[in-house]
Amino acid sequence: MNRIVLIAGAGPAGLTAALELLRRSDCIPIVFESLDDVGGISRTINHHGNRMDIGGHRFFSKSDWVMDWWRTMMPVAPEKNADGLSVIPEADRHLLVRPRLSRIYFLRKFFSYPIALSAQTLGNLGFARLVRIGLSYAWACLFKRKPERNLEDFFINRFGKALYATFFRDYTEKVWGRHCRDISPEWGAQRIKGLSILGALRHAARKLFSRAPADVAQKGTSTSLIERFLYPKYGPGQMWHIVADEVRARGGIIHLGHTVVAVRMEGLRVVGVTTKDSHGHVRTWQGDHFISTMPISELVAKIDPPVPAEVLEVGSGLCYRDFITLGLLVRKLKPTPQGKGPMNLVPDTWIYIQEPDVKIGRLQIFNNWSPSLVTTPDAIWMGLEYFCQEGDELWTMSESEFFRFAVAELEKIDLIDAADVMDHHLVRVPKAYPAYFGSYDLFSVIRDYTDTVPNLYLVGRNGMHRYNNQDHSMLTAKLAVDDIIAGNVSKRGIWEVNVDDEYHEEKRGAS
Ligand SMILES: Cc1cc2nc3c(=O)[nH]c(=O)nc-3n(C[C@H](O)[C@H](O)[C@H](O)COP(=O)(O)OP(=O)(O)OC[C@H]3O[C@@H](n4cnc5c(N)ncnc54)[C@H](O)[C@@H]3O)c2cc1C
Repeated sequence: MNRIVLIAGAGPAGLTAALELLRRSDCIPIVFESLDDVGGISRTINHHGNRMDIGGHRFFSKSDWVMDWWRTMMPVAPEKNADGLSVIPEADRHLLVRPRLSRIYFLRKFFSYPIALSAQTLGNLGFARLVRIGLSYAWACLFKRKPERNLEDFFINRFGKALYATFFRDYTEKVWGRHCRDISPEWGAQRIKGLSILGALRHAARKLFSRAPADVAQKGTSTSLIERFLYPKYGPGQMWHIVADEVRARGGIIHLGHTVVAVRMEGLRVVGVTTKDSHGHVRTWQGDHFISTMPISELVAKIDPPVPAEVLEVGSGLCYRDFITLGLLVRKLKPTPQGKGPMNLVPDTWIYIQEPDVKIGRLQIFNNWSPSLVTTPDAIWMGLEYFCQEGDELWTMSESEFFRFAVAELEKIDLIDAADVMDHHLVRVPKAYPAYFGSYDLFSVIRDYTDTVPNLYLVGRNGMHRYNNQDHSMLTAKLAVDDIIAGNVSKRGIWEVNVDDEYHEEKRGAS
């Protein structure tokens, strides 16, 4: 008889697991997804024909397996311009090769990111500030502070006090809602490791002397320096819709609007789950294996009979950072040095808003991710990103309040005129970032318990409470499938993904 694999979540991890099971075994995956769409955080939202990416999802990986997997699902657009970038194809089902440009907006000026020692940076920062940065960097190189007790120590050791205070301190606080002194240095090791001043200089020099466009995978390059990436013509959700279609075509089952509300165990085995659908109907399902991409804090609370008290306690102490993105359609931006055409369209895919007098963290320019995301003619479609905490004053604002607040912020920092706003759409994303504080230090208590349940596999981003990108999430799903097929009950391989990697979605912690 075919084995049934129950899967919680139809994000990249859950769908990858389902498709891999169908491709490589006779298991039947049954996927439950709380939302009425697939893709998880990597879904795309269609608002009046304009598509929003929650955060801006670059498709790149240092794993050949992942890169090949994506290319098999969607071919890369065949025609390229002289820079190796895709000419936007007529056909819908294509991955585009897109350029990355993200700059920092600070002191009402644009700075390159990562910060380059250019005439523009010198001019923007001013001589005095620059000397302070240079001296404190030299000091940090000569006298490294040890040990690194927190993220502040981590930053200062690598960048010096002045650069830390100018570019990292306030922004990190915006992202995480707490001071760098209250964040574990492990976060830096996970997220910033590949980025250094010398690395950025070496990269700039290489760029100057090499004219060949880099391969999209760019294996030797730190994430912050990745200049070209793959991107589905209609946003990341297009990829996950194609994957979901193939799962269904091969006999897999996806139940949208179904939340896993209980995970039933007998002894040390999962025997099934209980779901509640959007109409309130409760149903139980039996399975031979259970792959979970739901947040661990929720998983451990839903296991029935209850897990040991200390596991429950660590689970309930795990913290998250939540996220709000406001899609904003405008006729034009205010003129800026690199703004082009009647809309003053800047070339950036996204912009870090470093200004301390506003709460906005990043600004996505969806036109530059893929022109096909925007169907309103002669308009700029943006994503205004806010990092927040479920229940705080940002989270609880009504859509119209939030809209007024966010437009006022962009006006304040001289990027738009409120009169140019044409449309908007608000998306709240709970648990967008698993945090490395709260009870995270005690995470091994959870892992020691879940690892002893042979047919339970924790994969993905919140599923493992790890800052995993799509590719990491997919790799963990693939390894779970390998284990199910091989009858391997050790979860060690899965936990090793993204432990020692240098590539992550965003070195500044904002994606
Ligand atoms: C702002 C931002 C920018 C990012 N940028 C990039 C990028 O550039 N490149 C990149 O590769 N990655 C990026 N990422 C990371 C990427 O979004 C995640 O790695 C990926 O979506 C994780 O996939 P997942 O399947 O593990 O989890 P998710 O995408 O979170 O999917 C989990 C799914 O499970 C569902 N679920 C939860 N609980 C239950 C339940 N009890 N029952 C049923 N369903 C449930 C959820 O609704 C969700 O759909 C970014 C993330 C953020 C927040």
